[in-house]
Amino acid sequence: MRQKPAPNYLSGYPAALTAEVQRLIEGDLLAGLLLKKYPQAHTVRTDSALQRYVQELKARYLRNAGQLSKVMFDSKLHVMRQALGTHSRISRVQGHKLKSKREIHIAAVFRETPPEFLRMIVVHELAHLREAAHDKAFYQLCRHMEPDYHQIEFDLRAYLSHLQANGQPLWSAATIDPAATRSS
Ligand SMILES: [Zn+2]
Repeated sequence: MRQKPAPNYLSGYPAALTAEVQRLIEGDLLAGLLLKKYPQAHTVRTDSALQRYVQELKARYLRNAGQLSKVMFDSKLHVMRQALGTHSRISRVQGHKLKSKREIHIAAVFRETPPEFLRMIVVHELAHLREAAHDKAFYQLCRHMEPDYHQIEFDLRAYLSHLQANGQPLWSAATIDPAATRSS
C-alpha cells in the first residue's frame, strides 16, 4: 500500500502553537481541554436540519447572495484530504435564463461536534458565496458572521489533529440525549 503523507491540520500556524498542541495530545491533555471549553454537541443531525440552519444564517448575513439549491452532510468528503466543506456553482441555461445552482456540502465529521465548530464551517462555506478566494475580504466576511472565527478554526484543527492521532471522537451521538436527536 502506498503511504499518503499525513495531513498537517495546523500547517500555517506558528511552530510554537503547533508544538503546544502536539505536546497536549501526547500528554493526553487535549481532549479534556476541548471538552471543558466546548462541553456540548449541537443537535443539527440531519440534512434537513442542516438546511434550515444554513438558511437561517444566510438570511441573516447574505440575503442577496443567490439561492442555495442543496445543503447536505457529506460522508464522502474526507477531512483527511482537508476538505472540510465544499461549495459549488453549476450554471445551466433554462429557457432564456442562465440559472446557477449552488450547493454546500459539509463533511460528516461536523455532525458530531460542538455548535461552534459547525457554525465556523458553515460560515466559511457561506462566505464563499460572495468571495471565491481565501483572501482578506473573505476572512473579513467570516469574522463578520462569527467574530471568534479564527480561534474556533484553530480549536477545530486541534481537534482534527487529536482524531488523526487516533484519539476518540469527543462529541459522539452516544453522549447526546436521544430524545433530542430522534428524527427521520
Ligand atoms: Zn474555503
